[in-house]
Amino acid sequence: MTSPPNTLSERLAQVEERVRAACERAGRERAEVRLIAVSKRKPAEDIRAAYALGQRDFGENYMQELLQKQEQLQDLPGLRFHMIGHLQRNKARHLVSAVRAEQELVLHTLDDARLISELSKRLAAREGVKPMPVFVEVNIASEAQKSGCLPEQLPALIEALDAAPELAPQGLMVIPPAAEDPELTRPHFAALRELRDSLCPGWPRLSMGMSQDFELAIEEGATDVRVGTAIFGVREAK
Ligand SMILES: *Cc1c(COP(=O)(O)O)cnc(C)c1O
Repeated sequence: MTSPPNTLSERLAQVEERVRAACERAGRERAEVRLIAVSKRKPAEDIRAAYALGQRDFGENYMQELLQKQEQLQDLPGLRFHMIGHLQRNKARHLVSAVRAEQELVLHTLDDARLISELSKRLAAREGVKPMPVFVEVNIASEAQKSGCLPEQLPALIEALDAAPELAPQGLMVIPPAAEDPELTRPHFAALRELRDSLCPGWPRLSMGMSQDFELAIEEGATDVRVGTAIFGVREAK
């Protein structure tokens, strides 16, 4: 047993090792899985430090915080921000304003047709930007009060995205119901994969798995794991 890691460098290395081992167990290539370091409520300096260690993908939940950090970190080429928090339609213009040539921006929480039209319209108005990579968030267990589209709404969103060349659909994203035992989450990960296989087989990616359960998610086909606490440590309460 290794001792608990206590520096960013050690924690990142340990998560990396766990990602690698999970890929091996699942018979998958390490390169198939993108590790997104979720930096919400952590200072931009933490992102800079992780970048210096080779990390390139970072997840943020709040628009204001994302814009601020992007501003502070614009000198880091190849840095990629992932918006993983719920996106209100009235914030779509902020997200589009954050699209940069040198730093890719990925949206993981598309869940509504009106958001698709709003983003498309605003992206179309910007000169020379590439289509924005997006994931459709699915409320896989149809929980009340939860963001994400219901599984039965997915076909309509796929159709809307087919007609929106400004957006580049990557795959599906899920935040499964909270569970004490991560094994209880596995069926939800499998359900997301099955939904993708049956409804949008051409979308290669699955954004699923957090600090608690990213290894299970990798075993169930995740291509994007969103890991915060295990890399940056416990967050302050909001
Ligand atoms: C905060 C957050 C994460 C990371 O959670 P950890 O448990 O800290 O790894 C992943 N995904 C989403 C959508 C989040 O909001």
